Amino acid sequence: MHNAAFRELGIDSVYVPFRVPSRYLGSAVLGLRSQGVSGFNVTVPHKIEILKCLQRLDPLAQHIGAVNTVQNVNGKLVGYNTDATGAVEALRQNGASLGSSAFTILGAGGAARAIVFALARISRRIVVLNRTLERAQRLKQEVKRKAHRNIEIDQLTRKRLAKALLTTDVLVNATSIGMGGNPGCLPIEKTDLKRDLIVFDIVYGERETDLSRKARQVGCRTINGIEMLLHQGAEAFKIWTRRRAPIDSMRDALLAAMEARNDARC
Ligand code: NAP
Repeated sequence: MHNAAFRELGIDSVYVPFRVPSRYLGSAVLGLRSQGVSGFNVTVPHKIEILKCLQRLDPLAQHIGAVNTVQNVNGKLVGYNTDATGAVEALRQNGASLGSSAFTILGAGGAARAIVFALARISRRIVVLNRTLERAQRLKQEVKRKAHRNIEIDQLTRKRLAKALLTTDVLVNATSIGMGGNPGCLPIEKTDLKRDLIVFDIVYGERETDLSRKARQVGCRTINGIEMLLHQGAEAFKIWTRRRAPIDSMRDALLAAMEARNDARC
């Protein structure tokens, strides 16, 4: 999607992937810095470890404690978390009214943390349900300490999720369930969903997740993980180039790449 954006705006740049083993993260970053690259993304498993390699952090990335986008400002590396802003933008662009909605977030891992901290500043109510309750408890304490905001937490079980959904406007799945390699199902049935719920499943790579299919069959508005991937990319593009991202070309490139990948897997 970044190369499509560079082409469309006539920017003489290229975006390339590198696989970096954890033990080489520091030297890989030093290499990029010394080559004078304008910026780069980092993904799992480097989003936390990268903090040690940076000279400055955007305040939201500092709260979240994880970085997915780095900008090189005259040799000083500045870290951002555009997963957070990408998720919020995906919600906004797809009709969720952020300020007046009650959110239920499933998961308390890296992606859930990013979304919770981004929403903590703007949403009416946040409930986090996670398989491991202690992890949700730690997140609650951090949100209270850093963002001065109360969130509600509970364990992710069918009964507790069904109860939370009675007072939820937007359900966000930020667990890795449904992602290739983690093919389980969320503890949720169609009868737990109501038509006016917005369901945002941030898992991407599948044509449709089990959760999105159930939500669509009930008539809920659904938002898929591609939208978050797209908007986190658009935000990173803006940081690196100071130009507005050409969203439509980026979305087309992303969808084409996903289709090609899914066809290759069939
Ligand atoms: P992570 O830090 O490893 O967290 C995984 C989360 O999923 C934890 O809350 C974990 O619960 C939960 N989980 C995993 N397997 C489970 C199961 N079988 N039953 C119940 N809960 C389970 O991963 P992450 O970085 O947050 O990523 C989460 C997902 O978001 C991934 O699928 C990733 O690809 C996706 N993502 C999408 C975008 C996008 O742009 N669309 C961006 C970032 C991430 P425990 O705490 O109990 O282990």
